[in-house]
Amino acid sequence: MGEVIGIDLGTTFSCVAYLNGDTPAIIPNLEGSNTTPSVVSFTADGQSLVGMPAWRQAVINPENTIYSVKRLIGRKFNSQEIKNLKSRLPYKLVEAANGDILIEAAGKLYTPQEISALILNYLKECAENFLGTRIEDAVITVPAYFDDHQRQATKDAATICGLNVLRIINEPTAASLAYGFNNRKSGLIAVYDLGGGTFDITVLELQDGVFHVLSTAGDTFLGGDDFDNRLMGWLLEEFQKEHGIDLSQDRYALQRIKEATEKAKRELSFAVETEINLPFICATDTGSLHLRKRVNRSFFENLTRDLVERSLQICERALNDARVKKEKIDEVILVGGQSRMPLVKQMVQEFFGRPPAVRINPDEIVAMGAALQAVILSREIKDMVLLLDVTPFSLGIETENGGFQKIIERNTTIPARKTMAFTTVEHNQRRVRIHVLQGESDRAQDNVSLATFELVGIDPAPAGVPQIDVTFEIDADGILKVSARDVGTGREQKIEIKPSAGLLPEQLDEIVDKWKKEVKKPDDEKGLL
Ligand code: AMP
Repeated sequence: MGEVIGIDLGTTFSCVAYLNGDTPAIIPNLEGSNTTPSVVSFTADGQSLVGMPAWRQAVINPENTIYSVKRLIGRKFNSQEIKNLKSRLPYKLVEAANGDILIEAAGKLYTPQEISALILNYLKECAENFLGTRIEDAVITVPAYFDDHQRQATKDAATICGLNVLRIINEPTAASLAYGFNNRKSGLIAVYDLGGGTFDITVLELQDGVFHVLSTAGDTFLGGDDFDNRLMGWLLEEFQKEHGIDLSQDRYALQRIKEATEKAKRELSFAVETEINLPFICATDTGSLHLRKRVNRSFFENLTRDLVERSLQICERALNDARVKKEKIDEVILVGGQSRMPLVKQMVQEFFGRPPAVRINPDEIVAMGAALQAVILSREIKDMVLLLDVTPFSLGIETENGGFQKIIERNTTIPARKTMAFTTVEHNQRRVRIHVLQGESDRAQDNVSLATFELVGIDPAPAGVPQIDVTFEIDADGILKVSARDVGTGREQKIEIKPSAGLLPEQLDEIVDKWKKEVKKPDDEKGLL
């Protein structure tokens, strides 16, 4: 097996790492930076740009520049989160036939998986260029709180660009792996991960090379973007008050304001005051208008304090689930770019009653952990470290009257499997339908529908006689697999699976074929022979 890599596929930035000897190291991108904007842009002539080149021309080409695709992947067009997000995106979303999301850019429709595949492919090329060898295998990280659809969609994105996924692992677990591996620590660790789009908290126990996740909790719609949006909302309001003009209707202005607020937010992590200065933000009959505002740190902190408080409520839940008192935590690790904000550091410190661990680069540690796990899996160094992760959501089935029966409880160590017996309710019934969902509500409709499984071709028999054992299994990637066995005959029971979202195998094959024709570069073009 050749070189393997670890990829942190972030909402705003991505990062790729490998193992240099026995130390994880970051692979710089083609421009020499350690992190790459998770941005894809399509030019008028149909070319795609990825990373910094895409980001640079976002202002002049906002409707064809796709960012934050991780917020869309594996989600439904009609979900509340997407409804809230849509109005603020300069690019257009369209509903797919199965209710998934499609992105319209340069006159074509793309699935979020295809956009993510372009980012993954760029990172793969960076690694191939840096290491001088072809890369086929990777460990990719996802937020711990990603559900089954989001994980499967991420895996599909890798398949599209020809990357074999050795494992999907959770970002906080990857961070703790890199941290624990370097420091040879033992004890209880809390990983607080506030990235560009998502928040995760994970409580782990580390002992003798075993990384045992006790609980995880999170919010896939809480991250740096929300901090930017608060500042952006304020600027738009102020401008409207002063000039009576709603800049949110102007895509170009919106993109410029988005960039400026993100920059100002970062500056406020180091400076106590900053200025947002956007000349010629719009034209009126009487001339051009400029947007100029001074913002100080405490004002920005007041605008966003409730977002940090929300993250701490989630920490409370994770600690309860782990049955760990916060005083017992030996180390707090901060991950994700947004954790650089002083208010976040301060409130996390107050919450846990101890300062967070130092000498950690929150942008790089996740990719490093992924690289470590890639090497552990590919070289089968199982005795070196053992990762025991958990499933973030309960898995269960719909019962009569729209109820929900949990089969595998949240925070169960994965892989996990559970078998349930099903039978027929009518004489000579040939099919049984099982609706599988993920979530915590007692009502099926409040949870995420994963798929319906139909046990078909059941031998004719009186009601209640056939016994079919159905095994639900969450694999090490956190993805559901279902199998069934007819107990009477011992035969494997046939199942028809109708996933509630995502790409069907034939759709994925079609996209892979298209990719091979339109995007894939031959090895000699990449300098690999
Ligand atoms: P990640 O997904 O971990 O790459 O985190 C990216 C998020 O971190 C983005 O929302 C950035 O704006 C934010 N970020 C990066 N650096 C800083 C900083 N110095 N202060 C505040 N937020 C930051």
